[in-house]
Amino acid sequence: MTLRIGVIGTGAIGQEHIERLHKRLNGSTVVAVNDINRAQAEAIAGELTPHARVYDTGQALINDPNVDAVVVTSWGPTHEEFVLASIAAGKPVFCEKPLATSAQACLNIVNAEVASGRHLVQVGFMRRYDKSYRLLKAEIDNGNLGAPLMVHCAHRNPSVPDVYAGDMAITDSFPHEIDVLRWLLDDDYVSAQVIMPRKTRHARTDLDDPHMILLETSKGIRIDVEIFVNCPYGYDIQCQVVGEDGVGYLPEPMGVLTRKDARLSHEILQDWKLRFIDSYDVELQEWIEAVKAGEVWGPTAWDGYFASVTADACVEAKHSGRIVPIEIDQRPSFYDRRAMKPAA
Ligand code: NAP
Repeated sequence: MTLRIGVIGTGAIGQEHIERLHKRLNGSTVVAVNDINRAQAEAIAGELTPHARVYDTGQALINDPNVDAVVVTSWGPTHEEFVLASIAAGKPVFCEKPLATSAQACLNIVNAEVASGRHLVQVGFMRRYDKSYRLLKAEIDNGNLGAPLMVHCAHRNPSVPDVYAGDMAITDSFPHEIDVLRWLLDDDYVSAQVIMPRKTRHARTDLDDPHMILLETSKGIRIDVEIFVNCPYGYDIQCQVVGEDGVGYLPEPMGVLTRKDARLSHEILQDWKLRFIDSYDVELQEWIEAVKAGEVWGPTAWDGYFASVTADACVEAKHSGRIVPIEIDQRPSFYDRRAMKPAA
């Protein structure tokens, strides 16, 4: 059976996912698209063989009986509406991060999914599908490092566009760490603190950069994450897990080590897409297979909600200068077995 997918949002990542789902991955085809910019949606639909149907609204696309599953890649503030509509229609929905743009909106989705009684929602936290993170998780899970005690991370970008403003280091960049570290450690956060180091001269005058974020987990693990989005040397994701018996490092992206001109060197990526391009493929291929098997197990609506609550606490911690508790309701038992599939 080929999974017939409708995609809402044909912007940057929407176009990339359409390409993947229709042309590269196995077992799926894109049959319908929608974007508030209809001309853009028509252009993308026309490039597919056979052409996808273009809908005026996301709601109409979701209700099309020829659409088996929905991918939401529209602007963040629209996610809640489209994910709730997909749940109401009983259709599996893959929603790019963020699940929604407020904790309450995420909770509305959690409540709707629990009430539906079916696991329909997966959030686009693709780092869980990255081979290097999966290797590091296997090392933690097999006990080689002993119990994790501390985690040191860095999230560095060479530059950010002008639309990147305000607290986006916390609300846009950091959610990837929020999710992947929870998954890596199989633990939840209990408090957040944000420390602002000396500002880099490479940042725009209106942008705070870098940030140092400190999290504490329920098991007492201490995490520090540097978010530095005007780091001139390149795109660099670092993660080091200090366990009581050993230390695990996130593997570096593969590249040729050269000895030349009295230097030992190794290329550093400049583009985040290149760092995670394979993980998007794995993420969506596994989602296709899970939907077809009737068992979606990837990052859940609860994970999306937890990320939102954590980001809110970090924003409050930054502006208040305080250590802010991360308080969240009891996880519904509905989500107990989710996102637990072992790495392939
Ligand atoms: P984008 O290029 O701006 O694309 C978003 C598209 O949604 C635009 O074409 C926009 O149209 C359209 N849109 C806005 N409102 C809509 C509505 N009511 N109905 C249908 N379409 C609507 O943004 P992007 O970079 O692709 O990001 C999209 C989402 O993916 C964001 O939530 C982002 O955080 C997420 N994302 C995740 C990752 C990741 O690493 N997992 C990477 C990139 C992006 P207009 O341009 O005309 O407004």
